[in-house]
Amino acid sequence: GKVLVTGANGYIAMWLVQSLLEQGFSVRGTVRSEQKAAHLRDVFKPFGDKLELVIVEDITKEGAFDEAVKGVDAIEHTASPFHTNAVEPDELIAPAVKGTTSVLYSALRHGASVKRIVVTSSCAAVLDPSAPRLFSEADWNESSIAEVRAQGRDATGIAKYRASKTLAERAAWEFYNTHKGSVGWDLVVLNPPFVFGPVLHLVEAPEKLNSSMLEWFHTVIKGGKDKAALSSLGSCWIDVRDLAEAHVRVLKVPEAGGERIIVSAGPFKWQDWVIATRSITSDVPAGDESYDPKTVNYGLDYDTSKAGRILGLEYRSMPESIRAMLEDFKIKGWWK
Ligand code: NDP
Repeated sequence: GKVLVTGANGYIAMWLVQSLLEQGFSVRGTVRSEQKAAHLRDVFKPFGDKLELVIVEDITKEGAFDEAVKGVDAIEHTASPFHTNAVEPDELIAPAVKGTTSVLYSALRHGASVKRIVVTSSCAAVLDPSAPRLFSEADWNESSIAEVRAQGRDATGIAKYRASKTLAERAAWEFYNTHKGSVGWDLVVLNPPFVFGPVLHLVEAPEKLNSSMLEWFHTVIKGGKDKAALSSLGSCWIDVRDLAEAHVRVLKVPEAGGERIIVSAGPFKWQDWVIATRSITSDVPAGDESYDPKTVNYGLDYDTSKAGRILGLEYRSMPESIRAMLEDFKIKGWWK
């Protein structure tokens, strides 16, 4: 089959494209400019004409994907801005929501061959950041939308991002529920937490990493958080390679159709990453040595039983992920 991947040059998308190609799919990737296509052509050269790249300059335009959806069997929509320094909420919300609906509109009108559309949402669309607990697919992050509605540009950067992901995912489900009687495809949404792991996409310098890897690099390699933050702050995570595999599996498993699926390897505090990294190398800062992993209360976690049941997904461990990151950073000259 042939799969359309939007935002193919992104951190997650590059691994997804690689997994698809390795598992025998053909891929049509969209990028915003010719310049961004060059690196993909280079990396995936061994796959020859199994990879096709097309330019979609503005994903928010209605009809933006009209040509791109033609003749593909499935669509994986990953393109969406991920940063926390937006001033106007719409810097994030407009491309997140309209990018998603324009893919769906194009599929509605020109996607006669499409069987499944996968949207990369986020745990940001699931959690309530003000009241961390165990969340499941039944939960929706209403609180970040409320914060952005109430405070506009004064809302925090992370609230703007979380609102953009929640509103985009909601728009996808609304569109699907409106049209599902008349389309030949179904919708699957994947909700990952923080994504870490080695880097395939083009990054000129560590300061230019995508948001999740920038945070990891800054915190663990550079020692960029104070001790209190290292042992109190955290989230949940998944290795980028496992997330790519999840995106491929949802194409192969019929039962995934119509499902919202959380994929997460588990919770962490940043000091857990520091400790796990220092068990491999002493070449990173020690962080908060008073931290006791046995007594820590993570608070935030996700029920991943649906991903286990439907996708049979297993997760790489912290040390596996760290080894791959360190090796990658070494090759890139970013560490040691
Ligand atoms: P990247 O920043 O590496 O990739 C983002 C991709 O989206 C790039 O291809 C980028 O294109 C594209 N994009 C961003 N803004 C726009 C825009 N306004 N118009 C068109 N394309 C745009 O991030 P990730 O790979 O980490 O993120 C990919 C997806 O995964 C996103 O939907 C993100 O929300 C989601 N996600 C990420 C998590 C993480 O921890 N990394 C966690 C949970 C979800 P360009 O290079 O041209 O800017």
